Amino acid sequence: MARYCESVCRLCRRENQKLFLKGDRCYSEKCGFERRSYPPGQHGQGRIKFSEYGLQLREKQKIKRMYGLLEKQFRSLFEKAEQMKGITGSNLLTMLERRLDNVAYRSGFANSRAEARQLVRHGHFAINGLRVNIPSYLVDKGDVVEVREKSRASARIMGALEAVKRREIPQWLELESSQFKSRVRDLPSRDDLTAPMEERLVVELYSK
Ligand code: SF4
Repeated sequence: MARYCESVCRLCRRENQKLFLKGDRCYSEKCGFERRSYPPGQHGQGRIKFSEYGLQLREKQKIKRMYGLLEKQFRSLFEKAEQMKGITGSNLLTMLERRLDNVAYRSGFANSRAEARQLVRHGHFAINGLRVNIPSYLVDKGDVVEVREKSRASARIMGALEAVKRREIPQWLELESSQFKSRVRDLPSRDDLTAPMEERLVVELYSK
């Protein structure tokens, strides 16, 4: 599968926002965006004026990068969101939140979504007692996501659970860290997402 291999801190600088792609480092003074909060490249410090299309494109790229999806996956999720009842933009964001890799990250079993995705692929998680290794799996209300018994001694997971104290666990998840379990209390709503995102621009872009 294709994947992005360059410096992820460049992505935050490009989108002019911290996307929290590097785990613990994002909360430290080593954060690339904290040190150089202007776009990368020769003209990064110049004045950049975006067209309407440019703004829509940047917002789409930002959200896609924040959740670590490639264009094809993101577009296909958008198409699903369009077919659902309700507001397409909110549907898109809540589906992104419900992905298993995101839930593992939000619950504190991994330091970043990229790390969570790798842990999911390697079969470290179970949902309602059944092993699931598909990062795009969408959790439902009442589901219990847990670290499988054999993976509970993993230094990576233990370290992440320690580090999660620095960030908030969303209200719609209930973490029982001593049991390595996280229950989906409720499905996330748009109001649960606090990162600055203007999904309206994504809808406008894809509706052209
Ligand atoms: Fe972004 Fe994290 Fe890098 Fe900071 S350390 S620039 S938040 S990926």
